[in-house]
Amino acid sequence: MLFPLKFLPKESYKEAPRHFGARRSKGKRKHAGCDLYAPVGTPIFAVANGVVLDFYEFYLESWALEVDHGDFVARYGEVKKTLPAGVKKGAKIFAGQHIANVGVLQGLKLSMLHFEMYAGTAKGALTQKGNPPYQRRSDLMDPTPYLDAAQMFGATVFNPCVFLPGMSKASFGFTAGMGLYPE
Ligand SMILES: [Zn+2]
Repeated sequence: MLFPLKFLPKESYKEAPRHFGARRSKGKRKHAGCDLYAPVGTPIFAVANGVVLDFYEFYLESWALEVDHGDFVARYGEVKKTLPAGVKKGAKIFAGQHIANVGVLQGLKLSMLHFEMYAGTAKGALTQKGNPPYQRRSDLMDPTPYLDAAQMFGATVFNPCVFLPGMSKASFGFTAGMGLYPE
């Protein structure tokens, strides 16, 4: 899996209030994802190849993109309503593709990618208010170990050494001198 941002946020996604399982609503529920703090407009990249399942309003007027990545489903939450060209329900996306941008959380001074993962073994809406403490679908996963192990794509210049098995230059539409991300 690739890391969904080009940088590791200064504020750890493993510490409160950002970590998976952190207290929310005065202890009535638990945080269902990891928060990756980043400025509004920060590009977000697909962590693996996949297909866009859905895109909808999510939290404090931000939006969420659901992607089936094959081995798991990811919800990229708290993003902007406007997506990069070609990213829409049913679209195929590839690992490292620019798929969204960090959005504004109305009424908060913070902005972030709120990242959730699901095993993909259950059906139905990812948010399920009647399923405490996370209020999420039963196949919710802790994304922390996956983010810890994720490949960091910090470089903006193409480096053949960073390609992973299953990825090809063709899948990036790569041409000599082009940046890694075709944005
Ligand atoms: Zn969050």
